Amino acid sequence: MSPSFQPVTDFRPVLDRIAAEVAATPGRGRPADYIPLLAEADPGRFGMAVAELDGTVYGVGDWQQPFSAQSITKVFTLALVLSMDGGALWEGVGREPSGNPFNSLVQLEYENGIPRNPFINAGALVVTDRLQALTGDASGTLRDFLRAESGNPDLDFDERVAASESAHGDRNAALAHFMASYGNITGPVPDLLDQYFRQCSVEASCADLALAAGFLARHGIRADGSTLLTRSQAKQINAVMLTCGTYDAAGDFAYRVGLPGKSGVGGGIIAVVPGRCTLCVWSPGLDRRGNSVAGVAALDLFTTLTGLSVF
Ligand code: GLU
Repeated sequence: MSPSFQPVTDFRPVLDRIAAEVAATPGRGRPADYIPLLAEADPGRFGMAVAELDGTVYGVGDWQQPFSAQSITKVFTLALVLSMDGGALWEGVGREPSGNPFNSLVQLEYENGIPRNPFINAGALVVTDRLQALTGDASGTLRDFLRAESGNPDLDFDERVAASESAHGDRNAALAHFMASYGNITGPVPDLLDQYFRQCSVEASCADLALAAGFLARHGIRADGSTLLTRSQAKQINAVMLTCGTYDAAGDFAYRVGLPGKSGVGGGIIAVVPGRCTLCVWSPGLDRRGNSVAGVAALDLFTTLTGLSVF
């Protein structure tokens, strides 16, 4: 067996090597600019964290710097809804890659207001609508969960980002109203949008998000040992992440990285090695499909160096 396929016991040298290679690579992409506040991020920033199943965290670079989690939060709202409502969610949202941009309207009309998957915006709006119906406070429930799993009581929304997004939220509003016309949104659309924009505005670090995603590597078990999801449900979320978690580049991400992952336009990506560890990487420069350039490169290198992959 090649030495690179021995179990890694200390991730520090791996992370140091990744950070050095990323620093030596020119071309980091551009920060998202359709939410004006995100455009201010410095594409030179880079951080990465690995959390083991017991909560031990290794980090490099800006791994403790909070950033805008954006669509990474869609994984957590999905997990919360499935934990409370079993499979009922799947009547209103599918599990197939969309082949369209994350905020596209066209497919929704052909498919009668049922979004392709929970990670495109339309699908995430359905998930947040269901979480709001189940809890009366979708974004607060998400924040409490993230605080508990990360152990960071200061983790919070950035109200300025939520306001910036709300001020430029016509497309998300259109998606929500359109689905409501098909009966696939249960609550008032303005309330849903408010919850959704707050959800997206979560500020969290690589360490926070790697720890918070730990239940996906622990087959559904939370940090305190209680059960959030069945083993089967945890597998299902990982599967949807693998096939739909990185916008229109999920095939390329699976090819390069070989792990379930979910990216956000803030430049973060979480990834899961089931039964072993979770990762979060952040660098705000995005490629044309919306994934962090340095983030994908770092995860690609991680699986290459460690041999830790689902394949
Ligand atoms: N808040 C963003 C939106 O709805 C999330 C985008 C993303 O990270 O994919 O447009």
